[in-house]
Amino acid sequence: MPFQTLTIEDILKNTKFIGDAKREARIRSAYEIALLAHKGQKRKSGEDYIQHPLHTALTLAKIGMGSKTISAGLLHDVPEDTKTTLSEVENKFGHEIASLVDGVTKLGKLRLKGTKEEIYLENLRKMFLAMAEDVRVVIIKLADRLHNMETLESVDKEKQHRIALETMEIFAPLANRLGIGEIKARLEDLAFRHLDSKNYEYVSKLSRKEFEQRKKYVDKVVFELKKELLKSGIKVISVSGRTKHLYSLYQKLERHDMDINKIYDLAGIRIIVPELANCYETLGIVHKKYRPLVGRIKDYISLPKPNHYQSIHTTIFGPEGKFLEIQIRTKKMHDEAEFGIASHWIYSENKKSFTDLLFRKKAKVPEKEMAWMRQLREWQKEFGTDDGEFIETLKIDFFKNHIFAFTPLGDIIDLPEDATPVDFAYQVHSEIGNRTMGAKVNGKMVPLDYKIKNGEVVEIITSRDPKKPSRDWLKFVRTSNAKSHIRRFMKKEGILL
Ligand code: MN
Repeated sequence: MPFQTLTIEDILKNTKFIGDAKREARIRSAYEIALLAHKGQKRKSGEDYIQHPLHTALTLAKIGMGSKTISAGLLHDVPEDTKTTLSEVENKFGHEIASLVDGVTKLGKLRLKGTKEEIYLENLRKMFLAMAEDVRVVIIKLADRLHNMETLESVDKEKQHRIALETMEIFAPLANRLGIGEIKARLEDLAFRHLDSKNYEYVSKLSRKEFEQRKKYVDKVVFELKKELLKSGIKVISVSGRTKHLYSLYQKLERHDMDINKIYDLAGIRIIVPELANCYETLGIVHKKYRPLVGRIKDYISLPKPNHYQSIHTTIFGPEGKFLEIQIRTKKMHDEAEFGIASHWIYSENKKSFTDLLFRKKAKVPEKEMAWMRQLREWQKEFGTDDGEFIETLKIDFFKNHIFAFTPLGDIIDLPEDATPVDFAYQVHSEIGNRTMGAKVNGKMVPLDYKIKNGEVVEIITSRDPKKPSRDWLKFVRTSNAKSHIRRFMKKEGILL
């Protein structure tokens, strides 16, 4: 695969603030420093090293990040790999950009010796902690990883495997969590190719063949639908054919006995409309034209997926009675699906849209899973619009009042600031809470009213017999979960509070 050679102009013309002199100057200046610092360095592939930060920055620009994040993307390997130091970066670009660069460097550093699981957990832990400080660090890391995956051919086989595995297990799920579908899909396909080349080849051949066969057919339906929608007066933004990305196709095949005929959404049509109401109108028009397959209508608009994905999916009997999946969504939903949290800033408007109202009322998001994501959204609503470089201010204040602690097995427990081992114990399980006798933090005994700090490993020492929670605990516990369990226990025992 020939590498695409980028210039700084490629970055600038892909930002969402084209023509903004101040921001463009910042990016150019970051580029100049990176170019100078990496001068003479080559990547394993033989290309100039600067191409790597440029590709990283291009991804960041494309998903709508601000100029500071893009600048940090350009500078992300400077302190680590060149003579230019972090404090020089800080002097020139200020603390914010420097701390982003520093965060990315730190994420790349730590690697535990030990089993695969241990390394995995450690990496995951680092990601969470980095995210707790500033989610932009993780987004830069994802963009960095994407380019490393794209150029993975040039490193040795063993390293290829390790990096591909890490990408599949940590980076793609993280991209998914952040709702950046575009990056998630690309990371998965690249990792899939390295980890399971046989199945990758199989699936890509299958997909190509199917696509060629279906292209004419899909084009025909697109043409028909455009005509119908035009008649109805709905302003359609686009109607286009789409294909499933390879890894998700493979996963689906695995669930369906590797039988391609059981997969209806291999190739499909995506209709993008301006307003939410248009989605349902369009669905009506589609169903009037083509009979829907019963049980295949999924309304992810009123019930979004856990990562906030919203769209209507329906499978229809197309011409000649062939199945075809049609997705209907607004432009906003589309951008959210592709660009994730970055798009929340693109759309941070003051007026509450119908989607927001609907979302707030009806969204059923698994509590634990996406709690932080929802908080992010809330936070964004509060701080809403600003000078347009919204993501630049994305210090997740929410996380400032939140800590992540770990069980000795590496499970992540999400707690409010100043939470104690008793809160931790109840968060793990009410029975563990009730039996708490003592606690160790990072291997050392601590009092039960100890204030847990971000990243600490907490081990709860429990009694074999059910021990009574102490009413004194109510004086220091922070979570309502712990409070209510302790109160319930007191009540049951007839102890008055
Ligand atoms: Mn890098």
